[in-house]
Amino acid sequence: MTLTYTQAPIERAEHLRGKDTEIAGLAGGANAQFLPVWNGLHPVGAEMRPLIFGPEILARAPPEAATVIFLGLAEATPWFALSVAAGEAPDLGVPCTFANLREFGALLPGPLASLAVYARAMAIWNETHPHCTRCGVLTRATESGHSRTCTDEACAHRTYPRSDPAVIVLISHGDKCLLGRKAEWRPGQFSTIAGFVEPGEDIENAVRREVAEETGVKVGAVRYLASQPWPFPSSLMLGFRGEALSTEIRRDSDELEDCRWFTRAEVRAAETGPGTLLLPHRSSISRWLIESWRDEL
Ligand SMILES: [Zn+2]
Repeated sequence: MTLTYTQAPIERAEHLRGKDTEIAGLAGGANAQFLPVWNGLHPVGAEMRPLIFGPEILARAPPEAATVIFLGLAEATPWFALSVAAGEAPDLGVPCTFANLREFGALLPGPLASLAVYARAMAIWNETHPHCTRCGVLTRATESGHSRTCTDEACAHRTYPRSDPAVIVLISHGDKCLLGRKAEWRPGQFSTIAGFVEPGEDIENAVRREVAEETGVKVGAVRYLASQPWPFPSSLMLGFRGEALSTEIRRDSDELEDCRWFTRAEVRAAETGPGTLLLPHRSSISRWLIESWRDEL
């Protein structure tokens, strides 16, 4: 079972970033591949696949309307994200609609899903950081879209894309696992416990704190399993297993609408009929954590 968004087929080729002449040559080359992102959305065709364009797209996305971001090389093929400025939906010259990767990422081949999520992460970061965090003046993309630099020469502050670390954990106790649900989810859906790591906090203690805050359950040993980029808008999910030291649930009703212990049999019966547990979306690490635990015995 492979985690969605973890199979990018490219070398990031960091050594080429900022070499503007070389990058412009790659971007204008016949084999260049572009993944446009507008407003956090990918253009998709009828089959809900992100549309991939050749260098001809650059004529429709002048520098004032789009940022070209170098993603890397897949063997000899250079890949780029094209962050299209917010406003009206752009005319890309082909029929398409704009869709959120979260809705269709799990349906894509792994390498394409991983490229699409990388493009989305970079495009969103560039689009949402138009101003200098020190002086408020406009920034411009530098290092081929991997940094942004203040246009005030005296300031010249440079910022880099960030990922916000979030822990997500399957807590088990014997043959049961602890799952919670948020009020806004579809009825019957439960998921693993998750939350952001706070500044000055290690990730193991972030796991224990989040579980204690949201459910009241005390956690002992925790073990890191896997991670997943989750740029919706900018998270990096760090997946754990944790062992409960207590089972009484004292739920934080601001965070969770419900929280329960589920047996393996209940998890195995998920989505088999009315009233059964609904699992989180197939592309998510929460689903992966639940299914990994379910299939262990
Ligand atoms: Zn500045």
